[in-house]
Amino acid sequence: MPDVTGRLAGKTAIVTGAARGLGESIARLFAAEGARVVVADIRAAAGRRVAVALGSHGYFVEHDVTDEASWHNVVRQSSEVFGRPGVLINNAGIGHRAAVLELARTDLERVLAVNLVGPILGMKVAGADMRAAGRGSIVNISSLAGMAGVFPVIAYSASKWGLRGATKAAAIELGRYGVRVNSLHPGGIVTPMSGAASRPLLEPPEPGREDADPELARLDGLRTYQPIRRVGRPIEIARAALFLASDESSYCSGTELVADGGRLAGFDLEREPTA
Ligand code: NAD
Repeated sequence: MPDVTGRLAGKTAIVTGAARGLGESIARLFAAEGARVVVADIRAAAGRRVAVALGSHGYFVEHDVTDEASWHNVVRQSSEVFGRPGVLINNAGIGHRAAVLELARTDLERVLAVNLVGPILGMKVAGADMRAAGRGSIVNISSLAGMAGVFPVIAYSASKWGLRGATKAAAIELGRYGVRVNSLHPGGIVTPMSGAASRPLLEPPEPGREDADPELARLDGLRTYQPIRRVGRPIEIARAALFLASDESSYCSGTELVADGGRLAGFDLEREPTA
């Protein structure tokens, strides 16, 4: 029986990179909000585990975002199993630590392939399907590194700035077909990519209370330079993605939602040297 409650009730959502980290958290929240979620990832075992945890709201498809044929496969399977996808979360991504003077070309191309070419292929293939349906919402997970330059991750920064630009170009193109495209810019979230927790972290810490997990408490303690003095939890990005994916953001397209603990807000002269 289709769900009639929840902020994504009746929608089919494809979430790439949903086998762990932010993607897993997004998949879990979306399913809880009534969506049928296609968990799409190159990590088959972990991806299947996430899909199984979602019960009748989850389905795993092995998917490599760099491969256009794989995109056709994931969109086709989504339609067959759950119905036409109305939401695409381009979340899959890889990091790479290298500054411009030490960057290998193969690494540059690999990062751009996953973080930029992949989401653009997704917008092309899923966007065509959404155009036919006359509606859809695409959320591209960029980064704080797509809003500011970040050293020493030159390829990663370039890929995330590129994705921010591609979001706007696609928003202009697809708006006439009822498809919205927005970018989401997390900063400093505890996931396997950031070398921390491997679990989905479904709640942020309560204000004023120390986290019981010593590793998280340690990471929180390092963040004294930003307005919200702790690292972000995956659920805090999942909630922002939920807003952009759902009809609640019906007048937002081509926009950027930053969720970075206030890191990009500006300068704190009490904590930084002044001229
Ligand atoms: P993660 O490494 O924990 O998870 C990424 C997932 O993407 C993995 O399951 C991986 O298997 C999958 N993936 C990698 N290459 C793929 C491919 N070619 N095709 C399909 N799936 C593939 O990372 P995360 O921290 O959860 O990051 C998710 C997204 O959020 C990324 O785009 C990342 O750049 C972005 N982001 C993360 C942070 C952070 O602090 N964690 C901050 C800003 C932006």
